Amino acid sequence: MRIKLKNRSKTSHLSLDELKELKSKYYSGENVNSLVKKYRINVHANSLCSSFPLILSSEKVCIHCDSNMYFVPPLKNTPNKKEYYCMTCRHVEGVFVCECTQCVKLKYEKKKKYEVERILEVKNKKDYVLSVREYPNSPSFDKLSIKEKVYLGALLRAGLDEKHLLISLDYGIPNDFAPMRAYRELIIAVLLDRKIITPYTFDNDRSNNRYRDFSITIHYDICISDVDKNKKELIISLMYPEKVPLHKWDETIDLLKEVQINEAIEYMMLTLQQFSLPIFEIEQKHEILFMKILEKYSQGQLFNFIYSMIKDLAAYSKSNYQKYIPISNYLHKKILDRFEYATMNKWNISNYRRAWQGKQTELSKLVSNRLLDIGESSFYQLVDSEIVILNLKI
Ligand SMILES: [Zn+2]
Ligand SMILES: [Zn+2]
Repeated sequence: MRIKLKNRSKTSHLSLDELKELKSKYYSGENVNSLVKKYRINVHANSLCSSFPLILSSEKVCIHCDSNMYFVPPLKNTPNKKEYYCMTCRHVEGVFVCECTQCVKLKYEKKKKYEVERILEVKNKKDYVLSVREYPNSPSFDKLSIKEKVYLGALLRAGLDEKHLLISLDYGIPNDFAPMRAYRELIIAVLLDRKIITPYTFDNDRSNNRYRDFSITIHYDICISDVDKNKKELIISLMYPEKVPLHKWDETIDLLKEVQINEAIEYMMLTLQQFSLPIFEIEQKHEILFMKILEKYSQGQLFNFIYSMIKDLAAYSKSNYQKYIPISNYLHKKILDRFEYATMNKWNISNYRRAWQGKQTELSKLVSNRLLDIGESSFYQLVDSEIVILNLKI
């Protein structure tokens, strides 16, 4: 990271006036070696500027998470350089290309979309690949709910077989499709049940026996059809949908919450493992609790509740190692208690970052980055339809 944070506290012994004086001397070109000595700053003279504290800007807002950004004091030889840093998601806005997690993800998303379009375009496909096969009792595209379209879009993003325009689950359901195995399986079951996808073996296709050997591979075909689109266009519009119109936001935010709850459960399981504690069967009460917390706090804050209570639990179980602790109930109660105290006392709960940097699932990305177009705000800010509407107006 280019914005050095570790030196920023090295001027904390100075009063505001001293700091102001030091900065003005620095920018007017006084010798840096003597400034470092005079003001007793423990940095190399060339890095003096990196010890100046960042300045909170009241105007500059982060494009990813909506937090106010910090102005980074420029070097004296580039006094007009404007650079801002986001303490919440680490996004940098300035002359250089930012390499924060969200910028990298968006860049990758763009590249991936382009690649998929290109692959689907250049391959000289036969008609049987390109055409949407008719399946009895399958719904048409406009009969699908947002949720069903998103489920299918995310599944395509995680497992599209570009050669045959099918969904390929060779190695089981990919982890990057959606959080938690049970949730991934549930989604596939919903899609199968609604006849949106159906198992497909190449043996079905009499015109093409070359693929007979691969019939063990689990493939699913897309059953829905759209009169206005061919199969390529249909797939791209499902994988990279446009932002939803206003009247569909409530529905989309409900879906976002569903994904967030599953991400929180996954985070809880990962954190338990991190502290060498046993994992347990999830009950509905955990989901309900997380849903309640997400009505008042952001997902990053929910992660804070989960992490700090598991940390306490680990310490408690260490000091009571002979005692049996029913972890599922214990944790549920502790998180609930803390949430209620925090709400009652209006505690300021800091946001945790995603535990799996860059490993946000396709389902989660599809909902936040495309349908709602709010990026990482969905993680760091409380999300409800009114807040999203407010943000959009800015
Ligand atoms: Zn940010
Ligand atoms: Zn960035």
